[in-house]
Amino acid sequence: PKRKELTVEDYINGVLAGDRALLARAITLIESHSERHRPIATEVLNGIIPQTGKSIRIGITGVPGAGKSTLIEALGTMLCDKGHRVAVLAVDPSSQLTKGSILGDKTRMEELSRNKNAYVRPSPSSGTLGGVTRRSRETLLLCEAAGFDVIIVETVGVGQSEAVVRSMVDCFLVLMLTGAGDELQGIKKGVMEMADAIFINKADGPNRQVALKTKAEYNRLLHFLPQATEGWETKAYTVSALTGEGISEMWDVIYSFFQFSKENGIFEERREKQALEWFYAVIEDELKLWFFQQDDIKQQLPLLMEQMRKGEVVPTVAASQLLTTFTNGLEKRKEE
Ligand code: GDP
Repeated sequence: PKRKELTVEDYINGVLAGDRALLARAITLIESHSERHRPIATEVLNGIIPQTGKSIRIGITGVPGAGKSTLIEALGTMLCDKGHRVAVLAVDPSSQLTKGSILGDKTRMEELSRNKNAYVRPSPSSGTLGGVTRRSRETLLLCEAAGFDVIIVETVGVGQSEAVVRSMVDCFLVLMLTGAGDELQGIKKGVMEMADAIFINKADGPNRQVALKTKAEYNRLLHFLPQATEGWETKAYTVSALTGEGISEMWDVIYSFFQFSKENGIFEERREKQALEWFYAVIEDELKLWFFQQDDIKQQLPLLMEQMRKGEVVPTVAASQLLTTFTNGLEKRKEE
């Protein structure tokens, strides 16, 4: 049966009341690609914005199999027991490439999903990274308006998505595995430079000793990296998502970071910067989209592409030719 259409007020009131079913529908609305939904989504976002911004936003990255789901479930459950309300979102870069997603397909965090103080949202399943990012940022705001005070944004560490998540959270954590020698050799250097803390997961059973050694190695390495957050020393820790050992300490680290960054203004400063970045990113995306939708651009593009492929035209020249076409088109429309 077709569900009844909700009004803007229904969405806003439902979200503000912390109704998880309505929150889910509001998120579906903002994730919608339909032109018809966008104005409603905008009104809903405008309606809830005064009630946003009050959560601790945490980003977690790690390669597939690092234990992100297991760890978030353990951390999230502990926080719910402490009286927090925890929302889990995912930015999944794989979905745009493969249609299926690394994060979303398996049934994840079942226990946490059933907890009445938690909300686990599968990742939006299609679109460009820019599109997914924008929807994830809006989803984060909806969750805050619904009263979730800890928001965890998860991403698979396979490329650009870490930077995207870093740009929407207050505190960024990297989950590592033991004995990953290559990672110490710089493959993950870029990601480590973004980290406010590094957790070596699966420090249990026979793996525990190796994990402690890996931790020491990371700590040594971290001395040579610039600080991700000025004045804050990023350190490595061991944790076991399976046994729960170190989870409580993990929260202590996150919370200390939160207090540290609040006290010296870094928190506010970072959020202001992130809001601007978001703004510029949307402008860029929309302009690009608009540009490539123009008929005269669409007409000229294939030939230019072909010429560039063959090395017959310099890309800067091709680009300025198209830009001229674009501005001429604007002039022409103004005259009409
Ligand atoms: P994700 O892909 O990063 O979300 O990783 P998962 O949470 O799905 O975990 C991958 C596998 O590692 C699963 O089989 C987990 O049971 C296992 N795992 C996760 N955390 C731990 C841990 O702390 N210790 C051990 N021994 N296994 C773990």
